[in-house]
Amino acid sequence: MQRDTEIVHAGYRKKSEPGAFLTGPQFASTYTTPGDPSQHALSYGRFHNPTWTAWEEALAVLEGGGQAVAFGSGMAAVNAVFGVALKAGDVVVLPADSYYAIRRVASVWLQSIAVQVRLAPTRGNAQVAALDGAKLLCIETPSNPMLDVCDIRALVGAAQSRGVMVAVDNTTATAYLQQPLDLGATFVMASDTKALTGHSDLILGHVATRDASLAEALRTWRTHHGAIPGPMEVWLAHRSLPTLPLRLARQCASAECLATLLASRSDVAAVHYPGLPTHPGHEVASRQMKRFGSVVSFDLTTRARAEAFLNSLTLVREATSFGGVHSMAERRARWGGDAVSEGLIRFSVGCEAVEDILADVTAGLEAASSRS
Ligand code: PLP
Repeated sequence: MQRDTEIVHAGYRKKSEPGAFLTGPQFASTYTTPGDPSQHALSYGRFHNPTWTAWEEALAVLEGGGQAVAFGSGMAAVNAVFGVALKAGDVVVLPADSYYAIRRVASVWLQSIAVQVRLAPTRGNAQVAALDGAKLLCIETPSNPMLDVCDIRALVGAAQSRGVMVAVDNTTATAYLQQPLDLGATFVMASDTKALTGHSDLILGHVATRDASLAEALRTWRTHHGAIPGPMEVWLAHRSLPTLPLRLARQCASAECLATLLASRSDVAAVHYPGLPTHPGHEVASRQMKRFGSVVSFDLTTRARAEAFLNSLTLVREATSFGGVHSMAERRARWGGDAVSEGLIRFSVGCEAVEDILADVTAGLEAASSRS
């Protein structure tokens, strides 16, 4: 069966099982459990939920095997990996250009429990030079927001030869476009808030692994820390999964058109998109990704130009986050935390007709070019 077909049916009821295709969300803080609780598959709402179980089955299909554990957010998923992999005295290597909240967690929390944090850039597989003596390597490719790329297989090889575990933040690509477990990663962690669910209406995350004892440790972490997802969010996410291949086919094709348009304009100082042949990670991305994703970043050099661009868009919303069916863009430097130009725009390409997206962007660039 084709992968796209498997994804449409993943975690849904089998043809032979009568009833709703996807059972509705099961809201339960507790379950009837007479006698010995260990004799019951479902005991308490922080421990188990059948809506999670169906979603986790689907995620495992998407990840290409192993087990998936759902969390209440992408950050909860990342922290669960830190929690099960690291203890005082360990060294973790993070991308210097990772999603900024992850670096903040590392500097605030990991360092306070005596975990040593090393930072090295994504580009050029530069994290290899920081691996000696480490316990965990975290990589993020393409990285957010600069969309730099590293070679997952090469980094896994370098890590494994030193006994280092590897966690890949796969948020930007999603498991549909990139499958790090197949490339040898110990963990995949993701914010499912983004393209995986794609409707900008929920916050979720997950971790996947092929190591059964690590999967168990992640589940125990979730139970102990209460980092659980709500059943309604999980059900909405599962409902969105069958359209993932369709959404991403449209979004990636349009993102390629947008990147090409931007690269042709003299008023855009730089375009960052791994699908462009001029991108330094294009060859690696072509090998390890199915398509190049729905996010394009580009530099309008100044805050005034970037703000004029955003203000003149009529279709594209100014909002943070990415991967949804509605196109959105933001000036990334407004948040602080990233080493980016004041004029850097992170643009998330939605499912609208590409002609309309390109027309809106072109008008925005004309408005921006009159500013200094
Ligand atoms: N990882 C990356 C690459 C992200 O971009 C984000 C959020 O933007 C996260 C993790 C955290 O995800 P969440 O906001 O679902 O907690």
